[in-house]
Amino acid sequence: MTFQNRVDHLSIDSLFGRKPLKKRVDVAKIIDGKLVSEAVKSIVTIEVKKLGLKPGLATILVGEDPASQVYIKNKIKSTEACGMNSFHETLPVSITQEELIKKITELNRDPKVHGILVQMPLPKHIQAAAVIAAIDPKKDVDGFCIANVGVLMADKAGSSSQALMPCTPSGVIELLKYYEIEISGKNAIILGRSAIVGKPVAMMLLNENATITVAHSKTQNLAELVKNADIVVAAIGKANFVKGEWVKPGAVVIDVGINRLPDGKLCGDVDFKAASEHASFITPVPGGVGPMTIAMLMKNTLEAAKFS
Ligand code: NDP
Repeated sequence: MTFQNRVDHLSIDSLFGRKPLKKRVDVAKIIDGKLVSEAVKSIVTIEVKKLGLKPGLATILVGEDPASQVYIKNKIKSTEACGMNSFHETLPVSITQEELIKKITELNRDPKVHGILVQMPLPKHIQAAAVIAAIDPKKDVDGFCIANVGVLMADKAGSSSQALMPCTPSGVIELLKYYEIEISGKNAIILGRSAIVGKPVAMMLLNENATITVAHSKTQNLAELVKNADIVVAAIGKANFVKGEWVKPGAVVIDVGINRLPDGKLCGDVDFKAASEHASFITPVPGGVGPMTIAMLMKNTLEAAKFS
């Protein structure tokens, strides 16, 4: 199947089971995060086999938060499926910050461990920043530590650099590139300015020569700003917040948000159905950015093993 065929068969009509109308040629193509994440993981698996050493990812979960348990389980599953070693430890919620940092220091020294991931959020008595700072930047597969953020800010990431980039933002860029969506010279708006999604996505799009606007809870005239954007990245955590009529005809919509509705279903920050009538490409939730986060974590673990 050619790339174009792959994209064509994922039209909005197929998703909603509607019969395509001949006249309606301007509905969005679905960006299939599952497909792209599988492609990334397949490449990682092949590279791992060629590497001559088995990359190892250590995951730490503090406490028993059910959502975090699911995330960790999926990370372990993917790590093993890619042919890498998974070392997991669940620590009691009562653990002190010092004890947790001691554990990280041990993992920093362990040659079998190439990547370290501490599942967030942490209990309130532990400072996430202190924990992240304790991870060796070369093993910081989440890409959250100051050294890795600094490389992104300095626009020095690339094959010659030993920096690790944050997974969800890298996944957003990977999706755009896989679907051959032009970034350079485009107006991009990023809704949300968190350190783990909004800011790094903005920096990566800027490094790809987009003209960026970063919106947040104090931003005024948000609808007008979105209407001017060729690329919309929504990462605010509010169900169906971005309305269809805000989306400029032909714009590309990347929905990072994951929200649970009262009926238990998941949805994004964008009103998917309405936005699909205006966008040229759009990510669904679930099945868009979500699967990319783990795929990029696998890629980072492989990269970290190569650094070692
Ligand atoms: P945060 O809560 O850390 O940040 C939310 C951001 O949205 C803040 O910058 C906030 O602004 C901004 N915001 C809130 N309300 C508005 C508003 N009305 N208008 C404009 N901006 C607003 O969230 P995260 O960045 O951690 O996550 C965002 C979403 O992405 C969540 O749904 C999360 O579940 C999802 N997510 C998905 C991942 C994936 O793998 N797909 C990975 C990580 C997150 P201010 O700074 O002013 O408060």
